[in-house]
Amino acid sequence: MKEIKVEARYSQQRDDGTCLCVLCPRRCAIARGGQGFCGHRRNEDGTLIAGGYGQVAALAVDPIEKKPLYHFYPGSKIASVGANGCNLACKFCQNWHLAEGRARSEWMAPAELAAQARAEGSVGLAFTYNEPTIWFEYILDTVELLKPRGLKAVLVTNGYLEAEPWDELCGVIDAANIDVKGDDDFYRTMTGGRLAPVRRNVEVAVRAGVHVEVTNLLVTGVNDGAEQVRELVDWLAGVSPLTPLHLSRYFPQHKYDAPATPMERLTEALQIARAKLHYVYVGNVAIEGGGATRCHHCGHEAIARRGYLTRVTGLGPGGVCGACGGDLPIIID
Ligand SMILES: [Zn+2]
Repeated sequence: MKEIKVEARYSQQRDDGTCLCVLCPRRCAIARGGQGFCGHRRNEDGTLIAGGYGQVAALAVDPIEKKPLYHFYPGSKIASVGANGCNLACKFCQNWHLAEGRARSEWMAPAELAAQARAEGSVGLAFTYNEPTIWFEYILDTVELLKPRGLKAVLVTNGYLEAEPWDELCGVIDAANIDVKGDDDFYRTMTGGRLAPVRRNVEVAVRAGVHVEVTNLLVTGVNDGAEQVRELVDWLAGVSPLTPLHLSRYFPQHKYDAPATPMERLTEALQIARAKLHYVYVGNVAIEGGGATRCHHCGHEAIARRGYLTRVTGLGPGGVCGACGGDLPIIID
């Protein structure tokens, strides 16, 4: 397996040879010869190495709706890449074979990956499937090569990163889908992380002008109650009521074996969210009216969706509403 050694950013070296990784809020203290929780960053003779740099485990061209991004070049495709490893440990992980580092990977130089992003019909490159931010250095090196070609950079992320590296990413990416998984208790008991850094990072990304959409996976019996949904929605409406929210149906996976989210819970969550947010969608399952984009000024259907089949029927030039001409929070060029 080819590997080039890249020194990790956001490392604090200590006199005893331990490295404190300050990339994510876990802040792993990594002894010589050890590796961080993410399985990527490792200490070699007192230097933190960005292990996994360029090790690609999955590469495909997907509908952009699959990320999910519904308001960013709707109906287009995007080259999508992933690796092994994650900095959270969600019991219900829907991609655990990658998160736990079980998939075969192959070396790709940033230039090689950037070239893949020009695949037919692709608007750019999405870092997705596993948690991309643990690939920090590789993302920065690759994104730099996308920009001159007019290609977009997208992150599908848990948003669990320290403030400074997150600011840096927000300066170079165009769009992000960020998981906001539940309340703080949910984070602590189900994911091994904390809510506060995630909320902060959503707020920062929105302020930085990154196109942000939020996903909330409703896990049966844990965070699918009305109270939890209301708390998420109240907060997100305060960030911006125009931020798209994807309520996603959970299916039993990995270490959590409850039945799939009941439909009535999804319907209830959709109603709660739509009372305060303009663009709420239901993912992983078809619900009547759960996939279409309707203008928040006049209610006209701007984008129809059936599965991953997307029809942009009601948008005017520049992404305004085709019926009333009102500005919509949709990026099309
Ligand atoms: Zn309208």
